[in-house]
Amino acid sequence: GRAPRFHRKFTQLQDGGGVPSSSIRVMQWNILAQALGEGLDSFVQCPPEALSWSRRKYLILEEILTYRPHILCLQEVDHYYDTLQPVFAGLGYSSNFCPKPWSPCLDVEGNNGPDGCALFYDESRFEFLDSVNLQLSTMRIPTNQVAVVTMLRCRSSGRCVCVAVTHLKARSGWEWLRSAQGSDLLRHLQTLVQKHGHDSAGAQTLDIPLLICGDFNAIPTEEVYRRFAASPLGLDSAYKRLSEDGSTEPEYTTWKIRPTGECCATLDYIWYSRDTLRVDAVLDMPTEEQIGPNRLPSFSYPSDHLSLVCDFSFKEKE
Ligand code: NDP
Ligand code: CA
Repeated sequence: GRAPRFHRKFTQLQDGGGVPSSSIRVMQWNILAQALGEGLDSFVQCPPEALSWSRRKYLILEEILTYRPHILCLQEVDHYYDTLQPVFAGLGYSSNFCPKPWSPCLDVEGNNGPDGCALFYDESRFEFLDSVNLQLSTMRIPTNQVAVVTMLRCRSSGRCVCVAVTHLKARSGWEWLRSAQGSDLLRHLQTLVQKHGHDSAGAQTLDIPLLICGDFNAIPTEEVYRRFAASPLGLDSAYKRLSEDGSTEPEYTTWKIRPTGECCATLDYIWYSRDTLRVDAVLDMPTEEQIGPNRLPSFSYPSDHLSLVCDFSFKEKE
């Protein structure tokens, strides 16, 4: 049985003001690794047929192509080389992929290789400047979590943007590790924007806008979230703009049922530089009723995490 897709609407923000044609659409999505969904996750209310790759791959592509983001940040990608990279290359996207060093997918029989983070961008909108794959460290010790950081130049405005995608350590008890991994990523980003923001004489010339997308595996009260919100990089979380007061995260970005119980939580974020970028629009979240009693994934939706989609524009320089 094929159930209908969620119908989600964009909330346009009053202070949007940006010319819609010039805005940059960004999507953040943990697509659920095929090996983990079938092999390790135990989504007990999800029919096994809904988890087959032959069904899920079309729902994943449909979800992304419904919104046609200019920048697409994905986690739990274990079908990069055989599906996502070639399909999106044919649609005009370039991409970078960083597999996890010891992906849990490799423990699943019949796996399709390690999962990792992937960053895609629309080549007609952006010129490639630089990209690095990072293994996040704590006290100089490398961990199993990674990030892709790509520096792009917007072809129409000539402005640069630094985009990062990451997937922090999962599960409770690891709050300290997520915090250390987040700090390590912030440190790398600080160094990168400093390097690219200087002219050949070494003078600071540019404030390079940042976009950091990720499954942080952390609720908004966790230390890693507080560190991002208080970072000297001047970051804000875009999805707060969906709330009535403009300062509350959504109620959930993931909703699933495992044998251990139901998990409904906000773990995924799009962080942006508040001084150089403006949020023009935010895609709303499906309601509890739309998601349905068996939660996610389902025949309607291929992942246990919902996609986050926002439109940004560059603020005028002051
Ligand atoms: P994480 O704890 O970060 O989780 C890995 C994945 O499991 C995530 O994608 C996460 O999804 C998902 N997950 C979270 N909670 C559950 C749950 N309750 N049940 C099922 N899946 C869940 O793992 P690590 O990256 O730290 O890797 C740990 C694994 O890596 C080990 O189990 C081992 O198999 C392997 N490993 C192997 C090593 C080696 O030397 N061979 C060394 C180290 C690790 P989400 O983010 O959506 O919650
Ligand atoms: Ca997962």
